[in-house]
Amino acid sequence: MSAVALNWFDTHVHWDAAEFDADRDAALERAHAAGVNYCLNPSVVVDGIAKVRALADLSATKDKWPRIFSAYGIHPLYVGQSKPDDLHQLEQQICQQRPVAMGEIGLDAYAGAPDMTLQRACFEDQLVLAATHQLPVVLHVRHAVEDVIQSLKRVQGLGQKIPGGIAHAFNGSEVQAAQLIRMGFLLGFGGSCTYAGSTRIRSLVSRLPLTSLVLETDSPDMAPMWLRGQRNESSQLPRIAQSVAALRQISLAELSAVTTANASQLLDLHENGASAR
Ligand SMILES: [Zn+2]
Repeated sequence: MSAVALNWFDTHVHWDAAEFDADRDAALERAHAAGVNYCLNPSVVVDGIAKVRALADLSATKDKWPRIFSAYGIHPLYVGQSKPDDLHQLEQQICQQRPVAMGEIGLDAYAGAPDMTLQRACFEDQLVLAATHQLPVVLHVRHAVEDVIQSLKRVQGLGQKIPGGIAHAFNGSEVQAAQLIRMGFLLGFGGSCTYAGSTRIRSLVSRLPLTSLVLETDSPDMAPMWLRGQRNESSQLPRIAQSVAALRQISLAELSAVTTANASQLLDLHENGASAR
């Protein structure tokens, strides 16, 4: 079977990013031609939600684009720019036009990231919102898996039930993966699987239950090996998937069927990619 006939879901792509301003339409058409039929596009700031939502709405009218679903949230690296009213604005946006998820939200302990106390407060406030509106969450976690698990537990401990989500670009241990899976999370993998040096990620990808995996490009970032240093795009997903299928020793057809079903089920999407709500 040719890869083109398969049905892929890019569970993390920033189509709204300025990097796509010059050729967004062509890049979307390339993705669709490659068999990427669905995309999840998280926002990173409240002011960016309108653009993400407009792209999602437009995608429903375009035969040659993937169908884009949106998530709303404040990215941990942008909490410094966040205004006091943002959380309220975020909730208003959710009520106005319900997204399929909240995100991307989380914690980033990389050097130069915003103050962790500030990040944690913003993250946990958004987890409460996700629980209130029963939206799955798209997690951004860098060098902070343990802290993210603690925040999830703390918020759940307040009686707020978070309906799982996706840990995007997961790079934790197998034990942490198991903890997140128990909490209803899927784990997202992408371009890093294509680097022979990414031994931990490659080992995780080959051993985790297939029912817990989803695929992503994180375009325009996280370029696969063959695009190192260049802009990434969704059309690369099937080729990235070849690395994952090889690691798991399964067919591309099985990988695309299971990972697309995993994502659709979590996000509560039904036939034809139509949003459930
Ligand atoms: Zn992202």
